[in-house]
Amino acid sequence: MEYEPVIGIEVHAQLLTKSKMFCGCNTDYMGAPPNTHVCPVCLGMPGVLPVINRKAVEYTIVTGLALNCQVPEATKWDRKNYHYPDLPKGYQISQYDLPLTRDGCLEIDFDGERKRIDIRRVHLEEDTAKLFHEEGYALVDFNRSGVPLLEIVSEPDLRSIEEVRQYVTKLRTILRYLGVSSGDMEKGAMRFEVNISLRPRGGEEYGTRVEIKNLNSFRAVLNSLKYEIERQKEILQSGGKIKQETMGWDGVRGVTVPQRSKEYAHDYRYFPEPDLPPLELKRKWIGSIKARLPELPDAKRERFIQEYGLSEYDAGILVADKEVADLFEGYVKVYPKGKSVVNWMSRELFPLLNEGRVTLEEFRSKWPPDYVHELLDSYDRGWITQSTASQVVTVITIGGDDRSPRCIIEEETLAQISDEERLGAIIEGVIEENPKPVADYLGGKEGALRYLVGQVMRATKGKANPGLVNELLIKNLKEMAQNM
Ligand code: ADP
Ligand code: MG
Ligand code: ZN
Repeated sequence: MEYEPVIGIEVHAQLLTKSKMFCGCNTDYMGAPPNTHVCPVCLGMPGVLPVINRKAVEYTIVTGLALNCQVPEATKWDRKNYHYPDLPKGYQISQYDLPLTRDGCLEIDFDGERKRIDIRRVHLEEDTAKLFHEEGYALVDFNRSGVPLLEIVSEPDLRSIEEVRQYVTKLRTILRYLGVSSGDMEKGAMRFEVNISLRPRGGEEYGTRVEIKNLNSFRAVLNSLKYEIERQKEILQSGGKIKQETMGWDGVRGVTVPQRSKEYAHDYRYFPEPDLPPLELKRKWIGSIKARLPELPDAKRERFIQEYGLSEYDAGILVADKEVADLFEGYVKVYPKGKSVVNWMSRELFPLLNEGRVTLEEFRSKWPPDYVHELLDSYDRGWITQSTASQVVTVITIGGDDRSPRCIIEEETLAQISDEERLGAIIEGVIEENPKPVADYLGGKEGALRYLVGQVMRATKGKANPGLVNELLIKNLKEMAQNM
């Protein structure tokens, strides 16, 4: 029998507020010594009173609205009770039956089609302390305790690993567009729990699910799902039953491992938080938040296609990162040839970024729009070859040359050799030195021409105009054939 995965995801994202969720402690604790960003509230001392962070509520609503959620008239806080050393007060302040926003959706692109993933809720809670497990004991750092934490819960609408990849990537992009979270997984600012079950393909009912907790990267999400799909498939195919349980992911061994069920008993005994008032969410406030929503990736992509004549693919790569999209727009305003700019960025910038040879900030500071204009204009007019254009990028970006591209091209005489007389002499030399390929070409082997063009390009260190070289070579060879 063929099985179909059914997947639902819970995404946690730390919000970029200056202070914590219920106290005034600074959230900027990265790199700080343990337990230095703490107070009685976020340490969970008895008798202290929490105070709601208005910005965190606003950020949650912003996110909910961006994900097409409803914002109810009122919301409230609940205690989620459990006992674990990362939570000394014995409960986490979260939201249970009245989340800040609910019933939204996110569209993903799958197989050239759009697919809608329903979002059950986007609510707000507090992060817990961080445990460091040592040999035989554990250390607790409360710096993270009480940081505002967004939780985005999807319906079980995802049907494949690729859909999951699209979904989590897009969510992260949106959070970054909104400026509500860094989405920085290496710093733990974005974490995941996935729920996965299998059912016979085409079936209606959902199967028994397994929850995988504490996933800290896209890779962990995708690999754990891949593993769990196979594990469940084997059990079902051999006539077994899936046990509903909570698992962890062992990234080193590449396997899911059952958690001790006591630690994650699902009996949280939620009850309303008595120390916090329910919140009335005034329509006027919600309206003003909605009015300030920035342009989101899908809208930006459509606009890029319309305004700059980009392909769907090109527009898609640009809008995947708002800073890249902004950089592109800065360039295209000064050099209004969208296709040229995006091709250039794909060819030069993206590989440098991927190889970690430059950061976007460095690149932006070294390539103001007028530099890009100078370079692309020279290239598009055929004054310089692609390899020269690349060289100039390297010299400026990596070599730290602070001359302008035009200056470098002129001073280093990098301009293309388009002078027929000069090229003609070089071509004659190449023909003389390569009797075999010449004979091959004259004997009807068209492919030999490419070799000869390559030799001319080499002799000119890539500065010859390839179109002209081609033309002149053919002309010379034709003359030779006639004289034979
Ligand atoms: P809990 O309250 O125990 O966390 P929920 O019913 O709220 O459980 O669902 C949590 C997540 O599990 C949601 O993202 C949901 O989409 C997903 N989910 C629910 N049922 C299934 C299922 N049968 N298979 C896969 N995912 C599921
Ligand atoms: Mg859960
Ligand atoms: Zn505090």
